Amino acid sequence: MLACVLREPGRPPAVETVELDAPAPGEVLVRVAAAGVCHSDVRLADGELGPGRWPMVLGHEGAGVVEAVGDGVTSVAPGEHVVFCPVAACGVCAACRAGRRTLCEPAGRRSLAGRLATGASRLRDADGAVLQHALSVACFAEYAVLAAGGVIPIPADLPLWQAALLGCGVLTGFGAVTHAARVRVGERVAVIGCGGVGLQVIAAARLAGAATIVAVDRRPEKLEHARRRGATDVLDAGAVDAAEAIRELTGGGADHAFEVVGSAVTIRTAWEGIRPGGTAVVVGLAPAGVEVSLPAIEFLSEKSIIGSYYGSADPALTVPGLVDLVRAGRLELGDMVSHLIDLDGVPDALDRLRRGEGDRSVIILDAEWAGMPALSTTGAAVWDPA
Ligand SMILES: [Zn+2]
Ligand SMILES: [Zn+2]
Repeated sequence: MLACVLREPGRPPAVETVELDAPAPGEVLVRVAAAGVCHSDVRLADGELGPGRWPMVLGHEGAGVVEAVGDGVTSVAPGEHVVFCPVAACGVCAACRAGRRTLCEPAGRRSLAGRLATGASRLRDADGAVLQHALSVACFAEYAVLAAGGVIPIPADLPLWQAALLGCGVLTGFGAVTHAARVRVGERVAVIGCGGVGLQVIAAARLAGAATIVAVDRRPEKLEHARRRGATDVLDAGAVDAAEAIRELTGGGADHAFEVVGSAVTIRTAWEGIRPGGTAVVVGLAPAGVEVSLPAIEFLSEKSIIGSYYGSADPALTVPGLVDLVRAGRLELGDMVSHLIDLDGVPDALDRLRRGEGDRSVIILDAEWAGMPALSTTGAAVWDPA
């Protein structure tokens, strides 16, 4: 099959013909319909998440149709539509038993090693060398083999090119609001970074009843999009002191400031933008080695800073609720997609993310199944949502 392979950081990932083994017991084979290009893919491609994470088939956000299941799999059946979930929780480790499945210890270890739950890789290149599964998924490919816990069934009427976003960007943004911060009606919220995940944070804050939602970014088109998704105020971080402006707009500081960039400067902005007793929630994925310094005296005012990984909840419980919101017309997914591309378009999509341009690029692996008309094969086919 064809797959987008990262050979080493600094070299653009390229489409290769690779071998994919049949699913072992407890695993599933999925025909990939569509996959989203996420900022974590840039971090991986640039070698910013630590050494040894290549060669690798990229991609962890996507959706498809189950083609076959290994022995013992009862949670999904061939023909079922699924979204991918990078955390195939074991269900028995201390974190899982405490109800914190996104922190599942063996799943985290496998994800870091680019392996499936069994510890194996099912991917090999044309020379027979083992390839890693990006975040235990590897969906920038025509097919993917995953642990059964790495797929979440969804109803067949949801277009897969939209459903592809649910398993990472949407879940991460919504969970940060509803499970990590637990935003309540009437609260004042700031969102720093209006990319694929930041826009989901804004949509979730609106649905949660936040009275003030201040969106911060450097690009005017992103701020415009933030307004359409529910931001009540927008700030150009290049033109104003964002923290000061957040405090002004929220009457003394936000109750929750979400950092959705992954840099020391923006984490500091989130901290400075919250009121005494407020919480800074770091959602952005910072490169390994980045450190943040905070004025320690401010802990006296009971400010707190927390992290949120992948929605901070059980993905299998959260995704069905998100699906209901989409089907009820209360959560828009299609407007998040700025580019529909094929596998060859991945390097350009990564470049757009590096430049902060556009919203989500979605790779269409199978136009018919993804629910979209056929695309030209020239790469980055831009689709106009209007
Ligand atoms: Zn992601
Ligand atoms: Zn576990």
